[in-house]
Amino acid sequence: MKRQDSRTIKSLEEILGPDNVLSDARDMAPYVVELRRRFNNPARAIAIPTSLDRLQALVKWANANRVPLVPQGGNTGMVGGQVPKNGNEIIVSMARINRVRKVDGDGAFMFAEAGVTLEKARRAADGAGLLFPLAIAPQDKAQIGGILSSNAGGLQVLAYGNARQLCLGIEAVLADGSLFRGLNGLKKNNTGYDLSSLLVGAEGTLGIISAASLKLFARPEGFETAFINLASPEAALELFRELSRRLGTSLTTFELMPDFGIAMQLRHGMIDKNPARSRSDWYVLAQVSRLPGQDRNGLSQGLEAARNNRTIKDFVISGKPGEQRRMWQVREQLSSAQSREGASIKHDVSVPVSAVPELIRTGCKAAGKIVPGIRPCPFGHLGDGNIHFNLSQPVDADATAYMEGAGKIHDAIYEIVAELGGSISAEHGIGQLKTGLLKEYKDPVAYEMMKKIKNILDPNNILNPGKMLDQAPEQ
Ligand SMILES: Cc1cc2nc3c(=O)[nH]c(=O)nc-3n(C[C@H](O)[C@H](O)[C@H](O)COP(=O)(O)OP(=O)(O)OC[C@H]3O[C@@H](n4cnc5c(N)ncnc54)[C@H](O)[C@@H]3O)c2cc1C
Repeated sequence: MKRQDSRTIKSLEEILGPDNVLSDARDMAPYVVELRRRFNNPARAIAIPTSLDRLQALVKWANANRVPLVPQGGNTGMVGGQVPKNGNEIIVSMARINRVRKVDGDGAFMFAEAGVTLEKARRAADGAGLLFPLAIAPQDKAQIGGILSSNAGGLQVLAYGNARQLCLGIEAVLADGSLFRGLNGLKKNNTGYDLSSLLVGAEGTLGIISAASLKLFARPEGFETAFINLASPEAALELFRELSRRLGTSLTTFELMPDFGIAMQLRHGMIDKNPARSRSDWYVLAQVSRLPGQDRNGLSQGLEAARNNRTIKDFVISGKPGEQRRMWQVREQLSSAQSREGASIKHDVSVPVSAVPELIRTGCKAAGKIVPGIRPCPFGHLGDGNIHFNLSQPVDADATAYMEGAGKIHDAIYEIVAELGGSISAEHGIGQLKTGLLKEYKDPVAYEMMKKIKNILDPNNILNPGKMLDQAPEQ
C-alpha cells in the first residue's frame, strides 16, 4: 500500500470506525465489480458509514482533501455508475444506513433511509396495509438510494410512474458535507425549485441521498394476468389503446415479447411449454390490479372484444398465482435466454408509445442490413414506450467479432430513436457507459445547464467524477 493510501485509510477509520472501512483487495472485490463485469477498476477503499453524522463527516473530509467518492447502493446498476472509473476513488456503501424511519398510513408515505432494500421497503408498506409499487427484479439487493439515484422504472410504471414520480422529497448530503433537508410528506408544496427531483436521477453526481419520502398506494386485492397472441407490434399498440381506454390505471403491466424469446427458452429447457394458447409471432403479457370491491372481469371483457374485432388472435387469462408466475417467468427470463444463445447487443431506449412499432420495424431492418442473419429480440414495456432493443448474434457467428461490430449497430439504432423523438436511455441511466452518447444526443443547452448545476453543487468534482458528464466541471 502506498503511503498516501495508508494515510487515507487511517483518516477514514478515524471518521467511520475501523469496522466500517475495507481496504484489502479481497474484501473490496464485491464492491468494485458490477453484475455484468463490464467495469472492473480498483477502489482506494470502501467506506461504510453507519450514521448520517458519520456520512456528513466523511464527505466534508473528502471535499477538503479532494478525494473522489462513488456512492453505492446494492451494486445492481446496469451502466457502471456505482463502481470506480479512475481507480483512485473511495466507494461509499450506504448499506448500513438502512432504517425505515416512519410509515404514515393517512398521508400514504414512508420515510426510508438510503440503504433500505426495495424488498424491505415493500414489506414495510405491506405491514401498514399499503403498497409501494416499484417493481424491479433485484429487489432483495437494490436500495432506495440507488433506485432513486438511477430513477429506476420497472414493471408497474404504467400505473404508478417511475422512481421520481414515487418520491415526495429527499434528504441528501451535499459535496461540502451540508445536509439538504427535503424530506416531507406533503402532496402540495409549491415553494420554488424542486431540488429533490434534481437529486433524483443524478446518479450520485450532485449529492449522496441519505433518506427519501416515498409515496404509498392502496394495496390491490388481486390481479388478473393474460398471455396474449398477436400478429405484430402494430396489433399490440392497437390492443394497448383499447385496454388503456377500458381499464385506466388498473392496467399495471403491458409487456411485448417476440416469439424468438419464447423459442429460445423452450430450446434451452428454461420452460416446458409456451404459456400462450398457441404459437404466434408476438405476445403480450398484460396485468390488471383489482382493488377491494372492483370488478374482476374488465381485462377478459377487453380481450374478448379485441379477439372479436381481430386485433388479437387468442389469449389465456388467470387469477391464480401459480399460473401467473409461469407467465411472468417467461418475461423475466428473456435476457438470460439470450445469454445462452451467444453474444447480444443491447439498447435500453424509449420512444413515444405510438412510435414503438416503427422503432421495431426500422430497427430490425437496419440491424439486418449491417449484420445479415442477426436475430432481433426487442421486448419490454410497450406501454411506457420503453423497448429493450436486443439483438442476438447470428447462429454460429463468432461472438467476439460480433461484439466488435457493435458500434455500427448502436449508431443505427440510436439514430432511429433520435429521429422518432426518443431517448438513448429509458431506465438504466448514463453512468460511465453512456457519457459519450449523452453528450451527442442531449440538447446542447440542456447539457450545458447540467454542467453548470454540477459545477455549482460540486465545484471540486468529488461526487462520482466522470459519471454522466464526461468531463470535470470548469474550475
Ligand atoms: C436483473 C436486473 C433487472 C433490472 N430491471 C430494471 C427495470 O426493470 N427497470 C429499471 O429501471 N432498472 C432495472 N434494473 C437496473 C436498476 O437501475 C438498478 O437495479 C437499481 O435502480 C439500482 O439500485 P442499487 O441500489 O443497486 O444502486 P447501485 O447500482 O449501487 O447505484 C446506481 C447509481 O446510483 C448511485 N447511488 C447509489 N446509492 C446512492 C445514494 N444513496 N446517493 C446517491 N447516489 C447513489 C450510484 O453511484 C450509481 O450511479 C435492473 C437491474 C438488474 C440487475
